[in-house]
Amino acid sequence: MAATIEARGLSKRYGATTAVDDLSFTVAAGKVTGFVGPNGAGKSTTMRMFLGLDAPDAGTALIGGLPYRSLRAPLTQVGALLDAGAIHAGRRARHHLLWMAQYNGISRQRVDEVLGIVGLSSVADRRAGGFSLGMRQRLGIAGALLGDPPVLIFDEPVNGLDPEGIQWIRGFLRSLAADGRTVLVSSHLMSELQGTADHLIVIGRGRLICDRSVQELLTAASSDRVLLRTDRVPDVMTTLANAGATVTLVDREALTVAGLPSERIIAVLTDNGLPFSELTQHRASLEEAYMELTRGSVEYAARPDEVG
Ligand code: ADP
Repeated sequence: MAATIEARGLSKRYGATTAVDDLSFTVAAGKVTGFVGPNGAGKSTTMRMFLGLDAPDAGTALIGGLPYRSLRAPLTQVGALLDAGAIHAGRRARHHLLWMAQYNGISRQRVDEVLGIVGLSSVADRRAGGFSLGMRQRLGIAGALLGDPPVLIFDEPVNGLDPEGIQWIRGFLRSLAADGRTVLVSSHLMSELQGTADHLIVIGRGRLICDRSVQELLTAASSDRVLLRTDRVPDVMTTLANAGATVTLVDREALTVAGLPSERIIAVLTDNGLPFSELTQHRASLEEAYMELTRGSVEYAARPDEVG
């Protein structure tokens, strides 16, 4: 079922605005890939091009190696959640899905299946107009899953949801990736993807800024620093500094130590008979890691307030 999402030299202009600027990346199967950038960065435009809703000015947008318009049965190739508000308010949830299914040659049984998957079976005969945003999101996701596609694209799926809804979507994205599907999910907030995304594609003003695994990003930002607790702070500081470390005081009984691997820190302290109660790797947040990586990127730093 594995299929990739691929942008090759993708560009799109609207009048004087370059929304997407020579963007190239590949989204792999079996992972959740976060697509991050401040509002206006070009995420929705890129996603619309993958879904054949906008034509690129240059380059190609491919699903499983083909442009959307060349896909035989698109719903079985790619599912998307772009705008949950787009569902007809007067239509009952099941009817909305039946209508989509019928139009695409998908069975009624699959409609009941996807209602179950997203947890809407008990409200399937209620009108979408009376649904909360979270329920409308679930209905949108049910529609995206109708054709059991290997590729899924979600544009800001947690925007405006309550914590419970956010948690549900996160778990759901993880389960889709665990199934081996290719999952691309956009957000204007880095923090929203912590714990959900395996890989990040970051764009700013239509251009690619970063295309790396979350693990790599976090390791790069965390590996160099450890947190050390001891009741002998002054002695430990002096000893580790003499051994070549950069030591920073955190509080009366804690320090961070950079520039020496953990094993070496332990050896130096033990050799000097200095006790410590805790030595842990400093864990950078995704946001910290990203900031570290892109420090000096004028393109992005120009609008730091929009990146959470
Ligand atoms: P994001 O999804 O990252 O918030 P968008 O893709 O929506 O960014 O927008 C990228 C840029 O393209 C913005 O400057 C936006 O104003 C512009 N844009 C997007 N769609 C249109 C459109 N249909 N007409 C004109 N400008 C557009």
